[in-house]
Amino acid sequence: MEPEGPAEHRVAVVGALMPFFRDWLADRYAAASVADIPDPAAVAVAVVGPGPTIGATEMDALPGLEAITVYGVGYDNVDVAEAARRGIVVSHTPDVLDDAVADLTVALVLDVLRGVTAADRFVRSGKWAAGERFPLTREVGRTRVGILGLGRIGSATAERLSALGAVITYHSRSPKDVPWAYAATPVDLARLSDVVVVLTPGGDGTRHLVNRDVLDALGPDGFLVNVARGSVVDEDALVEALAEHRIAGAGLDVFADEPHVPERLLTLDNVVLTPHIASATVATREAMARLVMDNIDAHLAGRPLVTPVPEMGRA
Ligand code: NDP
Repeated sequence: MEPEGPAEHRVAVVGALMPFFRDWLADRYAAASVADIPDPAAVAVAVVGPGPTIGATEMDALPGLEAITVYGVGYDNVDVAEAARRGIVVSHTPDVLDDAVADLTVALVLDVLRGVTAADRFVRSGKWAAGERFPLTREVGRTRVGILGLGRIGSATAERLSALGAVITYHSRSPKDVPWAYAATPVDLARLSDVVVVLTPGGDGTRHLVNRDVLDALGPDGFLVNVARGSVVDEDALVEALAEHRIAGAGLDVFADEPHVPERLLTLDNVVLTPHIASATVATREAMARLVMDNIDAHLAGRPLVTPVPEMGRA
């Protein structure tokens, strides 16, 4: 369905989006970056990628704003309470990225256990050719994996790892009707796990949920995999625990101050680092873009958002 109202500049892009999606938005809505829009008051819908913070100041700058459509499932960069106070609705892109994110999460779990990227570095360095042996590693089967945040992506990840023979435990704010054991706290989860996989949302409610106590409960044979948000893990405590071998290693797709990665992490061989790419497949990024556009279309046509953030209530 074509959007209603004046075509020009009702939709604005905040921050950087992938070129293909910028083109889609330009073609369909004549959308442009906020900075390139002559009359900010004309903007009814802001499309927000990961990164830029949208709070009261940014909302003040767009006085006609009615809807914020986030290109991602996590929306910790948007002050949803402030938006709600102003009657601005907010959407995100749940479900369509679960498989891609769960795949990357499993890849990181496999990598920290089997040392795939470390072995690659070992071969390239010439150590194998020189007669050195790569150290023995650990298989996924019978490994105890603790999922911190058993939501959509956490469940998809648990299903995959379970199929590979891992023994799953989880912690969320409340127990779920699932075949896996519930741990009452993150520390309990870490104590029961060889690998803790973090898949909660970011934001104030989860800041430093993984702290020194959790890392110490995981212990010197334990691994941390974080695909949630950098803010969920106390990064200083993590770097210290890794450097002092108080945990065995980590797989990290997200960081506290992206795209900056602490210098010490870059020098550690027991860490696998990826640049926030868990949902970054062609099919998934296109599905996310289509879902953002479904939300824009719905709003411009006067209908409720298709996938509002939970605080707005499901349509
Ligand atoms: P869901 O809302 O489906 O799941 C979130 C889970 O986290 C729920 O089980 C929830 O528990 C739990 N949780 C929330 N707060 C707490 C807390 N304080 N303590 C313990 N558990 C908590 O979200 P998704 O699975 O769709 O996405 C999860 C997150 O993954 C996103 O918010 C985003 O930050 C991250 N992500 C990262 C990507 C990347 O590229 N690296 C890509 C996509 C997502 P309960 O059900 O009990 O409320």
